[in-house]
Amino acid sequence: MKNAGAETASQYSGGDELPQDGRKICKAVHQYSKGKISSEDMDVLMDIGHGCMVVKNYIYQKYGGIKSLSKVYSGYEIDSEVRAARFREKIGLPSVYFSASVSRALADIKIMWAQVRNGINDAVSRNERFSPEDRHYIRFVLKTDICYWNILNEKAAPLPEKIQSGYEKVIAELGDGSRERVKNLNRYICRQTRKRLHRQHTDNELYFTIKKQGYRYGELDGTHGIFLATKINRKRIFIPLTDQNTYDRMLDIKLNPQNRTIEIIVSLFINIRRHEDYTNEVGISLGLWNMITTSTGNVYGSEFGRMQNEISDYILKEMRQNGKMKACDTKKYAADRAKMDAALKNYINREINRMLESEKPKAIYMAKLPRNPGMSMKGTGDTYFLKLWRKGFVTERLQWKCRKNGIQITEVIGKDIGIECSACGKKGHIEGERFQCQVCGFEENKKINSAKNAMIRGKTGKQLNKKFPQTKNEKAAKEMAEQ
Ligand SMILES: [Zn+2]
Repeated sequence: MKNAGAETASQYSGGDELPQDGRKICKAVHQYSKGKISSEDMDVLMDIGHGCMVVKNYIYQKYGGIKSLSKVYSGYEIDSEVRAARFREKIGLPSVYFSASVSRALADIKIMWAQVRNGINDAVSRNERFSPEDRHYIRFVLKTDICYWNILNEKAAPLPEKIQSGYEKVIAELGDGSRERVKNLNRYICRQTRKRLHRQHTDNELYFTIKKQGYRYGELDGTHGIFLATKINRKRIFIPLTDQNTYDRMLDIKLNPQNRTIEIIVSLFINIRRHEDYTNEVGISLGLWNMITTSTGNVYGSEFGRMQNEISDYILKEMRQNGKMKACDTKKYAADRAKMDAALKNYINREINRMLESEKPKAIYMAKLPRNPGMSMKGTGDTYFLKLWRKGFVTERLQWKCRKNGIQITEVIGKDIGIECSACGKKGHIEGERFQCQVCGFEENKKINSAKNAMIRGKTGKQLNKKFPQTKNEKAAKEMAEQ
């Protein structure tokens, strides 16, 4: 993970697992400095940022490999090792920054290990040469740190009794010749791990973390702000803030030396909401015009296309007046754009909320969006590309709101989803807004038909990364455009 330090705090909530009752999710709140920070104070902060980067790279380097797998999860051992190495004293960083950087770097390493394990699990699911018993064995090893560590390091550290008996059970399941089989599977695990494991590194000096003991919210000359610890004992610098909020936890700080401003990112853990009355399963289809069409036949965000076009028209008009094929950078233009974008985002949020409240879903199925549509921004202006980006924003908001409300959201394979008949499964054709099936005579609005297909695919397990390989991005983008 390059620039691991720049990840926003919300990524520490870990993984894409489905939300469960009683679980919490991480929400990032932002605070901003008010006015320009003095160059001297900015230098002080830059110096701290540099130190934190050095600390993170030290941890990545020392504990990012297979030898440290089990240590990373205990944490305690690493703390005392780092203390014994007197590394903090060497770089002269206050411990409120130092130990925060250490925990952030360890969190990044854990995220990497989670990615490695998930990647191997996915590869194992896709690989047909494995028997169910093989898969069971590999999954057992991957989720049991000490077994996994033993195999990667060709060691035989004693396993706790309960794990030992579980391990013997999955080996016995492999049946005759299990000894050879275990060897082969272990080799597979090592190979797949080496392929996926990489040494993390960050060049980001502008992003660091501070523990709560290192700051204090308060007022100076009648302005609300935050006092931050510096490298000099007892000397704190004061940064005025645009809001009056105070927090009591680790904070991430992002420096913007060009503008001499900072941004504070606060990770709040909020409870996943429970909705006893959300019991429906709903398929949805996203559109560039109508934002969401559901399998139940409802449309949410019918102004989505019109609002986007208004923004496009504005950009094109401004560009023509400028006489160049380049967006202008006047203040008025930036302000107008920001206002229009904010109105659109607001609208998107409102309509997603309305959808969830009216449809009351416990599960939502939707076709997967292409991750990286291979399209350039030819001709500039608000082209197809920008609209796709907004569609990405819709998906991101939708996924966040689903997680927050304990709704399961599942992506299904999008291939041919628009031209398949949701009544009989054969291929039909589209005329204008209508879908028609010659085989069974079914007729429906094309987006509703798509949404119904999403639900059918989701319910029958035609989910991504399970049965179907991902289609090429460009092809998927094209198909989506034709839906
Ligand atoms: Zn049909």
